Amino acid sequence: MTRTPLVVAVALALLLIPPPAPQAADRPSVAWHPGKLRPGDVAWVLVQGVPDGASLEGSLGARSLLFFPYASGHAAVVGIDLETKPGPHAWHVAIVEAGREPRRLSGKLTVARRDFAVQRLTLPNNMVDLDPETERRAVSEGERLRTLYRTITPERLWRGRWTRPVAGQEPGTGFGSRRIINGQPRAPHTGIDFAAPRGMPVVAVNGGRVALLGDYFFPGRFVALDHGLGLYTLYFHLDTVSVTDGERVERGQAIGTVGSTGRATGPHLHFGAQAGPARIDPAALLGLDVND
Ligand SMILES: [Zn+2]
Repeated sequence: MTRTPLVVAVALALLLIPPPAPQAADRPSVAWHPGKLRPGDVAWVLVQGVPDGASLEGSLGARSLLFFPYASGHAAVVGIDLETKPGPHAWHVAIVEAGREPRRLSGKLTVARRDFAVQRLTLPNNMVDLDPETERRAVSEGERLRTLYRTITPERLWRGRWTRPVAGQEPGTGFGSRRIINGQPRAPHTGIDFAAPRGMPVVAVNGGRVALLGDYFFPGRFVALDHGLGLYTLYFHLDTVSVTDGERVERGQAIGTVGSTGRATGPHLHFGAQAGPARIDPAALLGLDVND
């Protein structure tokens, strides 16, 4: 666009009406999706009207936003941890350009209350009351996984829609349920379970890289996929694993089969998801409407 017609248009407009609003490109917009959030949800933000060459920084509560190019703007995906307190959570976005003061936008998102089911389970005592050596093993394996979730791959390895990890229509169950095992309260259930027969194929829910394979006390034989920008998916209790460490996988690619390894009452897939340290509802990830 040349400058002259705009100046003429503005001059003409000034004769008739108050000055027009600045052009959209000069006024960045921030839109959060979905508008209403609950613990375990996956939120994403779209920032548009950002000048070429500018970079973005941002946060929601204590979480940093990691932006990627999307829909002629910039988007970021952020997880609302399972145990997030209901109420307002502040967000901040800064548009950083060389030789200019960063432009800052901020607001609040409200996280609504979410009630989780209580699940009572009976398991063999040796799977619940761990001897000190097994306890140490389980703690160090949990720490290994949490270290993984804090490892951020700076590129986005996923694209478009997310697919189910097993065939069928039944939704996975049990996210966030407060577990009472053999009468004792335990940590909440951070994934969803799919009832499925032993040997049923388990597939990658989106593009990613095999970040960790193992045979741990609670998860049993498992695969952890890194989808980039802090998003991870987890597949526990597998009977067999058909991928190797570091391997690049595509959405729908078989990575193993359903089993009952680790602490499981029978064959099923435990499917988990993390957005950095946030424990998110995998069903919310499967419903994420970032479509490209
Ligand atoms: Zn489970």
